[in-house]
Amino acid sequence: MIKIDKAMEIIKSQQINWPTERVQLIDALGRIMVNGITSPLDSPPFAKAAMDGYAINSTDNSIKYQIIEIIGAGDNPSKTVIGGTCSKIMTGAMMPGGADKIIRVEFADERDGYAVPHTPEPAGNVIAKAENLEAGDLVLNPGRLAAKDIGIIASLGFPEVEVSKRPVIGVLTTGSELKNPGEKLESGQIYNSNGLQMTAQIASAGCIPKYYGIIVDDRNALSNAVAKAFSECDIVLLSGGVSKGDYDYVPEVLEENGMQTLFHRVAIKPGRPLLFGRKDDKFVFGLPGNPVSTFVTFEVFVKTLIYHLSGLDYNPTLYKGKLSKKVKRRDTERTEFYPVIIRGGNIEPIKYLGSSHLNAMAEANGMMTIPNGIAEFKEGETVSVRSI
Ligand code: AMP
Ligand code: MG
Repeated sequence: MIKIDKAMEIIKSQQINWPTERVQLIDALGRIMVNGITSPLDSPPFAKAAMDGYAINSTDNSIKYQIIEIIGAGDNPSKTVIGGTCSKIMTGAMMPGGADKIIRVEFADERDGYAVPHTPEPAGNVIAKAENLEAGDLVLNPGRLAAKDIGIIASLGFPEVEVSKRPVIGVLTTGSELKNPGEKLESGQIYNSNGLQMTAQIASAGCIPKYYGIIVDDRNALSNAVAKAFSECDIVLLSGGVSKGDYDYVPEVLEENGMQTLFHRVAIKPGRPLLFGRKDDKFVFGLPGNPVSTFVTFEVFVKTLIYHLSGLDYNPTLYKGKLSKKVKRRDTERTEFYPVIIRGGNIEPIKYLGSSHLNAMAEANGMMTIPNGIAEFKEGETVSVRSI
């Protein structure tokens, strides 16, 4: 059994040349951008009006200003503003020559072709050329694209972006006791929750799930399903059959199919039987069958691989908060992931009976890490939690 840090290191040390592709911005949400983005232009590209109003020279304190031009957004001003004159200007329009200030429209009356201020204008109301950004500035680092990033890239004039290819991830759920939702349960059977849980996790990680359904605990059936999934997917995930029971065929069947085991059994709770392997440029995880174990090992390990393929470190969003009641354990050999509720600045451990207690996760919105070697977190202690 290896420590979690060692397992992470093995995943992150995998060398692979993962392909990229160019996608239109409309299809880029959630994709992993592989290069940083540098601005090709100044923003704004010209000094522009931040308000509707009257553009004047800030040194000109006339009591009224003759309106010499009306400038809308997108227009090119043709007149230069001099003492006693102004151009009426709309928000977003280019500032005319000679002007460096706008008296907002609410602060002046308009009479006989003149703007007559009635209230002092304290602000300049002009956005200087390149005030927001200069050509050549680095604007975005590589990483997963959120909606705001799409706006930023569009503002720089790029119609498309280079992203890493979405991995196709196969899901095989092993277990002769499994039935799919919608089917009738016979004695001794349970519903297959891992299959759909994993396809949902894959989709929410921005990858393409390929679902192979239930594989009964039979060596040949498993071997055929594994061979098919290896040929069609970049990463193959199996749930169940990876520990030490008589019918736990996953480790040996994977090796028979040419996969090299990179680690098997990790000092984590839940999820100890976890297996990770590789065949050429394809990867496989054998995730333990208990549904909370499957969930947790995906979040911690599979996501790390998914990001690593694109050359990134997976850094889950971490919340810090004060523990609402103490958490104590006897065995400290493993790093534990414990479901919690993040509420305000508090972290509340939930009632959780173990890795088969999937419905306990209904309440949870976070997972607290208890590192190996730690036996107790005190009430009121600051702990860090990843959101789920
Ligand atoms: P295993 O890892 O195959 O020994 O399974 C561990 C436990 O998880 C057993 O109680 C299984 O019945 C249960 N389990 C395995 N696969 C699934 C699944 N796909 N959905 C729900 N529970 C499962
Ligand atoms: Mg099983």
